[in-house]
Amino acid sequence: MSSFPPYLLEGYRTFTSQRLPTEQSRYRELSERGQAPEVMVIGCCDSRVSPEVIFDVGPGELFVVRNIANLVPVYQPDGGAHGVSAALEYAVQVLKVKHIVVLGHAQCGGIRAFVDKIDPLTPGDYIGKWMAMFVKPGEIVEQRDRETMQDFVTRIEKAAVFRSLENLMTFPFVRKLVERNELHLHGAYFGVAEGSLFVLDQAAKEFRGVRESA
Ligand SMILES: [Zn+2]
Repeated sequence: MSSFPPYLLEGYRTFTSQRLPTEQSRYRELSERGQAPEVMVIGCCDSRVSPEVIFDVGPGELFVVRNIANLVPVYQPDGGAHGVSAALEYAVQVLKVKHIVVLGHAQCGGIRAFVDKIDPLTPGDYIGKWMAMFVKPGEIVEQRDRETMQDFVTRIEKAAVFRSLENLMTFPFVRKLVERNELHLHGAYFGVAEGSLFVLDQAAKEFRGVRESA
C-alpha cells in the first residue's frame, strides 16, 4: 500500500466524502440493474482528454474505450485479439448504445509521433504499428505546400477522427444499425488549451465549435 500513489488515495477519500454520497443510490441501482449507457466514446489515452470530465457525466453514462490517437481499426475477422473491436462488439451488441462518438484532440502525441515518423521506442514498435493503421495501403500522408507544421498536425488529428468513423462502418454489425438509423456515429475534437469542443458536421465534413454555455 505504501507505494500506491498518495494523491490517488487522497482523491478516493474526496470521492467518498463528496461525490459518493450524492451518487450512492445511482451506483446501487447500476450494480443491481447493470449498466445501460446510450453512448460509447472512443477517445485517446491522453491524460488531458477525459470524456467523463469533458461531458460532465456520472457513473453508467458513458462506455469508453481509449487508445493511442483514438483510432478504430478496420473490421478484421482474422482470429486475432482486437481490443477496440471487442469493446465495440460489446457496446453495440450487448449494451445497444445509440451513439458512438470518436473524440479526437489537439496536441495528440500519437499523431505527432506519426507525423514526425519517430524511431521505434522498443523493438516491438507498438506505436508505429498502431499508427500505421491510420494510413490506407498506398496512401501518402505529407505536409502540404505552405502548410505550417501546426496546421499539418491539426489536419491529421482531425483526419484520424474521419478515418475512425470510416473504419467503424467496416464492421457489419455497426453498418447494419447505422443504415437502419438505430445507431448514430459522431466525430468531435477537443482543444486542450481552451477546453473547447468541436463537433463534426458530417454533411459539410467540418468541425464546428460548440458554444461553451447554452
Ligand atoms: Zn492523443
